[in-house]
Amino acid sequence: MASSNPKFAGPGPDQIYLDHLRQQNFSLPKCLSCGEFHFFPRVVCPHCGSYDLEWQALSGKAEVYSTTTIRRKPERGGNYNVSLITLEEGPRLMSRVEGIDPELVSIGAKVSASINNEGDEPFVVFTPMQESK
Ligand SMILES: [Zn+2]
Repeated sequence: MASSNPKFAGPGPDQIYLDHLRQQNFSLPKCLSCGEFHFFPRVVCPHCGSYDLEWQALSGKAEVYSTTTIRRKPERGGNYNVSLITLEEGPRLMSRVEGIDPELVSIGAKVSASINNEGDEPFVVFTPMQESK
């Protein structure tokens, strides 16, 4: 049997990402060449083109970069927001902020990641971080 590059064997980065979420683990690939994380997970670092990536757990700390309230009738679940979130590690992802009135989500607000398992596939959502006083 011909040997294949081990970096391309096994599940792809999308699958690995989801497998981590199923285990309540929010991780992204970190490039060992330039030190940058990226989202959505790829096999090649989008910053420098290196294949030398390693999955690392994220702190979950993040900040709201932009936010939009999507209006929806109460009987269909009520309004919700779609927010662009910047992770402490650098990558930005589209998600939503829960546990707060969607209108009150503000740009620059500190949020923390949690994993929502209500759907068919787990996904990452954010909740406002408790202000430490
Ligand atoms: Zn890189």
